[in-house]
Amino acid sequence: MNTIRKPMFRVRRSRVHGLGVFATRRIRKGTRIVEYLGERISHREADRRYATKAANDNHTFLYIVDRGVVIDAGVDGNDARFINHGCDPNCESVTENRRIYIEAIGTIQPGDELKYDYSIGRDRDDPPNIDEIFACRCGVASCRGTMLWPAKRPKPRLRKGRKVRTPARKTARK
Ligand SMILES: [Zn+2]
Repeated sequence: MNTIRKPMFRVRRSRVHGLGVFATRRIRKGTRIVEYLGERISHREADRRYATKAANDNHTFLYIVDRGVVIDAGVDGNDARFINHGCDPNCESVTENRRIYIEAIGTIQPGDELKYDYSIGRDRDDPPNIDEIFACRCGVASCRGTMLWPAKRPKPRLRKGRKVRTPARKTARK
């Protein structure tokens, strides 16, 4: 059917952080909401582009797809880059055929802000205040206070088929 549906979301200011993405209608659990788009670059190129960024600047639109590819949503990115981190999220990022999609993990009501767990990986050369730089103020009782993944990182859960669910891997570039 070629019914034109109202867009599922819109971008506006968020109380959590800068801009956010909000549902404009009810979104069912499992719905693929948006693809995380941007220029696909190598890790080396991502390092080159953002090496000079201030260490306390957490405004990054990089998403690690795998060891070969990083998506830089700062170039040709779409609204997906405005989806904020949340410690008790209503969305998750899904990797499929080396592309990243944001999907609903529960029913989302109109007006709800879309969030997924960035689970930013830790690096050996992180500054000591890395958790401060990526502080989370999502406000839920279970907020862990940081967008970084806890030191002990569970193995990605592999599923049958090609769909692999991994923790979101936004990357902190210093
Ligand atoms: Zn939080």
